[in-house]
Amino acid sequence: MSKKVRVRFAPSPTGPLHMGGVRTALYNYLFAKKNNGDFILRIEDTDEKRFVPGATEYIINALKWCGIEPNEGESYGGEYGPYTQSQRLKMYAPYAQELVDNGHAYYAFDTADDLNVVRDQAKEMGLANWQYNAITRSSMKNSTTLSKEIVAEKIANGDPYTVRMKMPRNQEVKFHDDIRGWITVNTNNLDDKVLLKETGMPTYHLANIIDDHTMNITHVIRGEEWLPSAPLHVLLYEAFGWESPAFSHLPLILRPDGKGKLSKRDGDKLGFPVFPIDWMSAEGEKYSGYKEGGYFPEAFINMLALLGWNPGDNQELFSLDELVNLFSLERVGKSGARFDPDKTKWFNQQYLRAKSDIALAELIIADNLVPADTDKNHLAIVCSLMKERATFLQDIITDGDYFFNDIESYDEKTLKKKWKEQTPAIMEDLISTLEGIEDFNTASIEAAFSALLSEKELGFGQVGPGFRLLVTGKGAGPSMFDICSALGKDKVLDRMKTGLVKINAIKA
Ligand code: GLU
Repeated sequence: MSKKVRVRFAPSPTGPLHMGGVRTALYNYLFAKKNNGDFILRIEDTDEKRFVPGATEYIINALKWCGIEPNEGESYGGEYGPYTQSQRLKMYAPYAQELVDNGHAYYAFDTADDLNVVRDQAKEMGLANWQYNAITRSSMKNSTTLSKEIVAEKIANGDPYTVRMKMPRNQEVKFHDDIRGWITVNTNNLDDKVLLKETGMPTYHLANIIDDHTMNITHVIRGEEWLPSAPLHVLLYEAFGWESPAFSHLPLILRPDGKGKLSKRDGDKLGFPVFPIDWMSAEGEKYSGYKEGGYFPEAFINMLALLGWNPGDNQELFSLDELVNLFSLERVGKSGARFDPDKTKWFNQQYLRAKSDIALAELIIADNLVPADTDKNHLAIVCSLMKERATFLQDIITDGDYFFNDIESYDEKTLKKKWKEQTPAIMEDLISTLEGIEDFNTASIEAAFSALLSEKELGFGQVGPGFRLLVTGKGAGPSMFDICSALGKDKVLDRMKTGLVKINAIKA
């Protein structure tokens, strides 16, 4: 029997979760569900300097809002916990020791000052990037250069040390990436990464692979920025004698102009969110989110799914269940996926249109976009009329403000171009016609309106714009017969009469 698929999303709580991170979580989620596996949330907080309070809670809430919740992990529990690395600290040092004991790692006693000195010297000699590696380690203070006795003495003395990976010289590291194929890297290009810091804290690399191993992770699916770390990870698995999980490195998400990676700062600069939900930094800087921007989580997720993966045909709209069914790593591309904010709006529009009128009304009420005592059924009628033109729920309320409020102003362009000398008289006739309707509904209003037009030999253009302007204040919108039916006879007549007085005054 093959092993149960177990994947993890392993963010570091260094700030809010960028939409690239959400996509990584989504692909992990889809892969897990598709393969009847587990989707685990692990918080990698070993970098104390970059820790940001509130970031873990943000990550958990963001995944919840997106509807891609882990079935195991931080705040979800499970057999492999704790799922936050700072709560697992005791377990890492013995593994680092094991690597020292079997010759794959060593103690390094160089202080930060020592390292700065060699770096500066290298710079003076014109070497841009000095690295602690298979060659330079022989001139540094570490357990490969110092005698056993001195090393033992230093440790007994409590001298600070780090544990570094003993990167082999001139060895080919070959591993398979499920998206990129075979990858070969020569170890001469890799440095002796710190595995255990002076504080006794593991670095990302050590904690990450120990946790992946001890949590029985079968597939590592993460962003392309971790590809350069993969050879070290492969070597660490080998050094421990562990089976390595399968690797997949997802393509970058590019800015809308295709020029470079979409960064945390781009969003508010370019006018679209890059975060799932709003985030307020400790400095009081606000980063806007899709949720507060009025996006449906289904639309956001649908858009993200297609940012790097494709179904192989032209279908664009997918429910989460459909995505689970169709998802495969083979259909994830290698090259960067360009983010398109307009397309994201299009997705929202599609999801908005697909919702029933009553569901839209309920969402509008739940989001407090209307006063709490708004009649749901009336609101549903408004939604039925406005939804074809709306991208966000808020548009229904903003563009359809005349369903809720009296008319304060009249569209200037329409007033100027369509309100003619004879319009007031025509409107008076229309008022009398509408007054005569007993059962005031879409069909009866339309019939009376058409009868008036033929009786007076008027074209639609002589009546329609004025009618709309008086009742809605606007120059365009859904069918006037539907609007009037939704507003009711009294309100329509009242608006037409007061509107006529106001417009006559404006025109005078
Ligand atoms: N903690 C890493 C991050 O913040 C995880 C990388 C990985 O998935 O291995 O993205």
